[in-house]
Amino acid sequence: MGLLQDRCALVMGVANRWSIAWGIARAFHREGARCVLTYLGEREEENVRKLATELRDPVLLRCDVTRDQDLEALREQLQEQVGRVDVLVHSIAYARTEDLRGRFLDTSREGYLVAQNVSAYSLVACARAVAPLMPEGGSILTLTYLASERVFPNYNVMAVCKAALEACVRYLAYELGERGIRVNAISAGPIRTASARAVAGLSDFIETYRQRAPLRRTVDQEEVGDAAVFLASPLSRGVTGQVLFVDAGYHIMGV
Ligand code: NAD
Repeated sequence: MGLLQDRCALVMGVANRWSIAWGIARAFHREGARCVLTYLGEREEENVRKLATELRDPVLLRCDVTRDQDLEALREQLQEQVGRVDVLVHSIAYARTEDLRGRFLDTSREGYLVAQNVSAYSLVACARAVAPLMPEGGSILTLTYLASERVFPNYNVMAVCKAALEACVRYLAYELGERGIRVNAISAGPIRTASARAVAGLSDFIETYRQRAPLRRTVDQEEVGDAAVFLASPLSRGVTGQVLFVDAGYHIMGV
């Protein structure tokens, strides 16, 4: 019996096989969960369809988290096709490329709002859409990064989004707690994915982890997936409102 046997997990944010969301979906599948994957649009659809053949009885749904009508349709489709959701994984972020290089000082109002909308507010919107399908409680997870509290040059506006996202985790954890719904974040070390490559200097980040993290390396999607299994499963039933670092220990270092 897997740790997520007979659970239904909604995993939002698979774009390709390097996506952290795919690492999480595979770990959930291994532990017995049925996965519903959502993807942004046509560009991602073919990849996600191919990947989903590795899962048991998968459900695939398209959802742009900036569109309220998509979230409404998502809830209706989930109600019809799976009925109940036990786990929601929000593994979604976006900022314009020009805002992930150069000076933070130059962030435009529009660029700031786009990034916050997709990367932080969407957790609130997704939780609101899906929580009614968790009548007996559930687990909501999102993905964050240490730049929420320390300066990583070029991470810029996304760092501010991650700070907002972590605050959203705490407020949602507080409000949804009485319904038995837990809300947590995983703070992952740098991993080469499409989104991470948009941040100028990603290779320097990874090299710094190799030199300074206690484990002398960064992490991979599989390690994040395994931590997500813990947060999704009853093993973490007393844990909510937390940021769990899966970063080879880098965040404890002072120099
Ligand atoms: P990724 O590019 O594979 O995933 C990002 C996902 O966001 C994609 O599937 C993309 O389609 C989706 N997305 C963007 N805009 C969307 C929208 N409007 N509606 C719906 N989906 C949308 O990259 P990833 O690294 O797997 O990123 C997943 C999460 O992990 C992000 O929150 C990222 O900030 C976080 N994270 C990544 C790293 C890293 O180093 N890769 C480290 C820490 C945290």
